[in-house]
Amino acid sequence: MRIGLYPGSFDPITLGHMDIIRRGAKLVDKLVIGVTTNPSKTPLFPLDTRLAMIRRECAALGNGTIEVVAFDSLLMHFARECGASLILRGLRGASDFEYEYQMTGMNQYLDSSIETVFLMADVALQPIASRLVKEIAVLGGDISRFVTPAVRDDVLAQIAARKAQGS
Ligand code: ADP
Repeated sequence: MRIGLYPGSFDPITLGHMDIIRRGAKLVDKLVIGVTTNPSKTPLFPLDTRLAMIRRECAALGNGTIEVVAFDSLLMHFARECGASLILRGLRGASDFEYEYQMTGMNQYLDSSIETVFLMADVALQPIASRLVKEIAVLGGDISRFVTPAVRDDVLAQIAARKAQGS
């Protein structure tokens, strides 16, 4: 059974992520979406909320072969734990490439038996980034072309809650 791991912070899950998930699920028997706690970034959504949002959005994708799991260990250790032979990453452009190029190189040193595979989202979805979705939403812009309606509502509610708390 070929298992793929798609890691990321998914804060929040976007239509770009979902396109990569749809494409990636076709390449493997099981796709594990690994959600990082990523302590170096302060997320908009707590980890448990991100997991629930991804599970909800992916319910209709991949015919039940998609699992959503949190991890805070080294990516290559987690990949081995999952039994993954492939790590899937999305590429959006040159800036992603620079980062991924170095990460993949370092990961090959850690475990050269696990391949990293890069996918590109549909051309229309390539510019979408969670960071920009959040920035646009905070400033009152329309994010409905970048995320599903349910995720848009979650983002707006979370931003409103943060503002009410004064943070
Ligand atoms: P990270 O915090 O590690 O960048 P993200 O949640 O932002 O994780 O993204 C996870 C993966 O999804 C990364 O490989 C990223 O390049 C990819 N990705 C995100 N948005 C898109 C998109 N619009 N098109 C293609 N790949 C994407």
